[in-house]
Amino acid sequence: MTRRSTRPSDKATGGKSAAQRRKVPTRKCLACQEMRPKRDLVRVVRRLDGGTQVDPGGKASGRGAYVCPNSPCLSRVLKGRLLEKALECELSPEVRERLALGAEGPVTRG
Ligand SMILES: [Zn+2]
Repeated sequence: MTRRSTRPSDKATGGKSAAQRRKVPTRKCLACQEMRPKRDLVRVVRRLDGGTQVDPGGKASGRGAYVCPNSPCLSRVLKGRLLEKALECELSPEVRERLALGAEGPVTRG
């Protein structure tokens, strides 16, 4: 009932902008255990139907796991089956292939 229009937080901030403390959602890479911004990680999701997919937009519903899109981390999760353990299901061949390609970089051999 006593809501005031003049709030003290308006003044005396020393000229610092509020944008300096912007929060970025972070997730932990399965391989290196580092916290990174979600956008910097590859999300693999186990869908509600039990299938798995790489989810670049991070919007698919289901259980997700994250890994850095670099060779060491991708190959580690593939070799150690870390995604299978995290998602508690088998990865689809497409997902494994996609992650393997990401681990290898552009493949030119043919
Ligand atoms: Zn990593």
